[in-house]
Amino acid sequence: MEKLIITVAVTGSLTTRHNNPNLPHTPQEIAKAAVDSCKAGASIVHLHVRDPMTGAPVHKPELFKETIQIIRNESDLIINVTTGVGPQCPLDERIAVIPALAAHPQVKAEMASLNCGSLNFGMLDRKKREFILNDVQMNPWSTMLHYADTMKQCGVKPELEIYEAGMINNALILQSLDALIRPLHFSFVLGVLGGMQATVDNLVFLKNAIPQGSTWSMCAVGGLNIHTLGPVAIAAGGNVRTGLEDCIWISKGVLAESNAQMVAKIAHMAEDMGRGIATPTDVRKILSL
Ligand code: ZN
Repeated sequence: MEKLIITVAVTGSLTTRHNNPNLPHTPQEIAKAAVDSCKAGASIVHLHVRDPMTGAPVHKPELFKETIQIIRNESDLIINVTTGVGPQCPLDERIAVIPALAAHPQVKAEMASLNCGSLNFGMLDRKKREFILNDVQMNPWSTMLHYADTMKQCGVKPELEIYEAGMINNALILQSLDALIRPLHFSFVLGVLGGMQATVDNLVFLKNAIPQGSTWSMCAVGGLNIHTLGPVAIAAGGNVRTGLEDCIWISKGVLAESNAQMVAKIAHMAEDMGRGIATPTDVRKILSL
């Protein structure tokens, strides 16, 4: 089995310090979380940025540049920049960061997330019967093609984010238009309200539905999902994303102290199961970056 690729998603756009006070906000904090996670076994960092003063999710090239520069000075991590961002971010703004970074080789992203379809995106307060997040994450066909073409022109490999099964075919449509860099790398995002839920059956179904020769990773959002499904992905030969973007708990009822602690948990699990951990150099070979 190939070595395990661990991606760390250090801050995202939905988790808040109210959920977990250890969430990084500033470029310095986000970079430190990434570098510490690299030491714990992560080879890729999936990046969002935040307003350093308020912690609100933003998508500003200047903040990405500052964050990536610090990470590059201190580690060999592969940089994976979000283009999903969040439902409130305008479509043009979501992709604009990729060419803005590619214009400066020292901060160019090697990878970027590419959402492979639109979906309802929500959070539910069951007691109040109220959707506290009641959004649609828009990714029309022309947007997906434009994003994929832009990534290809910039030499940025897409991480094909799959929230539900039909999105695999959407990715294959983009491939048929020669918009994707091969081999394809899929990321199954399970557990979002609006997408496929985080179950073993769903993960197995998705991994069997992608073309031979593709690579895949899994993230399981919410609750303890990553701790439940992480070992399944490791055993099945896939790869794992963890971090405070997706999960605030290190175990039942215990908040994670840091992103690095989340990464170390997955790394130890893999080592106990006899699977080696890929370094960034290994990953550049495995994913043909
Ligand atoms: Zn993200």
